[in-house]
Amino acid sequence: MGNLALNLAASAANTPHAPALRLGDLTLDYAAVDAAAARVAGLLRDRGIRPGDVVGICLPNVPSFAICYYGVLRAGGVVVPLNPLLKERELTYHLADSGAKVLFAWEDVAETAQASAAATGTEPIIVTANGFDELLALAAPAPGYEERDDDDTAVILYTSGTTGRPKGAELTHANLLANCDVVAEVLLNLSPSDVVLGALPLFHVFGQTFALNTVVKVGALLTMLPRFDPTAALEVLERDGVTVFEGVPTMYTALLNHPDGKSFDLSGLRLCVSGGSAMPVEVMRGFEQAFGCTVLEGYGLSETSPVVSFNLPDRERKAGSIGLPVPGVEMRLVDDAGLEVGGDEVGEIAIRGHNVMKGYWGNPSATAAAIPDGWFRTGDLARRDSDGYYFIVDRKKDLVIRGGYNVYPREIEEVLYEHEDVAEVAVIGVPDARLGEEVCAVVALKPGGTATAQDLVEHAKHRIAAYKYPRHVVLVDALPKGATGKILKREIVVPSDLGSDLS
Ligand code: AMP
Repeated sequence: MGNLALNLAASAANTPHAPALRLGDLTLDYAAVDAAAARVAGLLRDRGIRPGDVVGICLPNVPSFAICYYGVLRAGGVVVPLNPLLKERELTYHLADSGAKVLFAWEDVAETAQASAAATGTEPIIVTANGFDELLALAAPAPGYEERDDDDTAVILYTSGTTGRPKGAELTHANLLANCDVVAEVLLNLSPSDVVLGALPLFHVFGQTFALNTVVKVGALLTMLPRFDPTAALEVLERDGVTVFEGVPTMYTALLNHPDGKSFDLSGLRLCVSGGSAMPVEVMRGFEQAFGCTVLEGYGLSETSPVVSFNLPDRERKAGSIGLPVPGVEMRLVDDAGLEVGGDEVGEIAIRGHNVMKGYWGNPSATAAAIPDGWFRTGDLARRDSDGYYFIVDRKKDLVIRGGYNVYPREIEEVLYEHEDVAEVAVIGVPDARLGEEVCAVVALKPGGTATAQDLVEHAKHRIAAYKYPRHVVLVDALPKGATGKILKREIVVPSDLGSDLS
């Protein structure tokens, strides 16, 4: 199949003057992006980078991210995308673990990047909003594209998975090319006239495949937001007539609860995609009503490039479901022994297909544990209905076991989202001397919301079985979120004395 970067070459050859990347007032066409990527490849060659060498990219969503990404690939290098919010200790770990020889780092994090790079013997190249062009102008463009085999690694994505230190999921050129084709052609039906909002971080797999790689493949326009902010997102959605919006559920919640949301003209939107974590049905319906655009939910992981399943556009959409496996991907539900579960039983999602990573970088034991028999274990629990649609019930590790009963937090969260005052909620298990664990809901209210903890308990109590409604409700201003905007349950801290149970 060859090098993923050839997609940029093809778009630059077919539509050199079509707009490719936009940030604020700056728009770059395909010819300009391709020429800059060729210079990045030349710069890397001058610094001694050879095919297979690892290069870190620690940049926000700015055009230079795309230029460096495609430049590294063009030189045959392996990209390690890194969150610019990483602290020095974390960045050093990622550089050391990946063996990155060069690091492109954003000017705002230059100090951290330089310190980490010095500790690992990595050469830092600081990318500035203006000066980067001058630096590139000094490099001779690399003439061609380094040949890559299907099984050669293109990108290493660091992911925390379920346990331990972040591991590098090695995605090959074939993994990314195949998943990009499926997303562009089958899921989004993307065409050169589409305008996609790049609000998801490009260092994360969701943004990389859905926004950057698909846009580049078809020659469409990616309009970028350095960081998600609901007001800025609404302004760009209107200004650029964005046709495709992709986000995690908390982005939809933020847009839906924006006080002036309805005053923006989003009539250009033809499709919205949600993924990354469970989309509450209430939020999906509310968003569709407010903005008049269908939301299709999909499911994926860093290790699977990412898309595994989707509410396919030509099939019935089932709210609350992650849909059907996408072409070329097989899904099944297994027990701890790896045997398929029957009927509508809950099992762990296991995946086989073109999208499954080669393995964890330099970590054969973690690879063998994750892919013991050719099927990648996701750590996500789901059930399948008679039409073959999958419904995530929760992550295996988020399951709360209350007095011997399994409580799936997602079910409780869905019920609490139905309460009119609730903006965001995460249900977790807290230690309980009698029951082992007790169910606790951590809730952020909408602006002006007046519900009390007792009100929310009452709301849940009337809708779900007695053994699972939350006995503790903690009201907070906001829930902790990760880089993409996913709610981070492991970072929720609840008071050690939660007081007496509410019941
Ligand atoms: P990441 O590797 O950061 O993309 O995280 C992957 C994890 O996100 C999966 O293992 C799921 O737990 C979660 N996830 C992704 N999409 C969905 C979805 N539609 N519904 C529920 N969880 C999801």
